[in-house]
Amino acid sequence: MTAADSMPAKRLHAVQARIADAAAAAGRDAATVHLLAVSKTFDAAAVRAMAACGQREFGENYLQEALEKQAALRDLPLIWHFIGPIQSNKTRAITERFSWVHGIDRLKIAERLSAQRPAALPPLQVCIEVNVSGEASKGGVAPAGLPALADAVSNLPGLRLRGLMAIPAPASDVGAQRAAFRQVREALDALIARGHALDTLSMGMSADLEAAIEEGATIVRIGTALFGERVIKHA
Ligand SMILES: *Cc1c(COP(=O)(O)O)cnc(C)c1O
Repeated sequence: MTAADSMPAKRLHAVQARIADAAAAAGRDAATVHLLAVSKTFDAAAVRAMAACGQREFGENYLQEALEKQAALRDLPLIWHFIGPIQSNKTRAITERFSWVHGIDRLKIAERLSAQRPAALPPLQVCIEVNVSGEASKGGVAPAGLPALADAVSNLPGLRLRGLMAIPAPASDVGAQRAAFRQVREALDALIARGHALDTLSMGMSADLEAAIEEGATIVRIGTALFGERVIKHA
């Protein structure tokens, strides 16, 4: 068996085909949609196999698990995104070890990530997480709090605000999926109209990437469709 017909290659090509089809249906250039491979709960060998198929960007939710994989994969030129909730005692390691953070929803965390970002590295690329579903238990800033948070985050020297991230409540109906993603896009457009230079919408997962791309996603975060079902469910 060659790498080209291995399971990771087949899954990667299937996801790339879904992205291409969704982009075509939306009249978008597929090159404007970036695939972030969400490798949480899968081991370094699984990441290495996916990297061997050409995937460069990986997303992790749990710091300790991510640091172990990064150490085991130091020989590869990978780009790491932190996509999980952030506790304030983890900010130093996150800002030292990652290129991107997607889940900013509090100024205090953003300030720590900025202050602790090593001077030798370029600014940390960040997205603010917006909670458009109004689920109180979920992370993300409420839409009403978004302009003030974006204004403050964009002034932090160690960070570069790129856009918004969202994890809408799961919906099986494509219309409902699209309505939630549309709210995120409209929130981004409102920030752009307010003067922010933003280019990133991090939204869409294995079950709803088509709806997200239809509504303008520029990063889709895909776990299950690339690596299979997660056996360990942290949360
Ligand atoms: C786990 C996770 C994903 C990937 O979800 P799948 O449904 O497995 O594709 C994407 N984004 C975040 C924030 C996650 O925690």
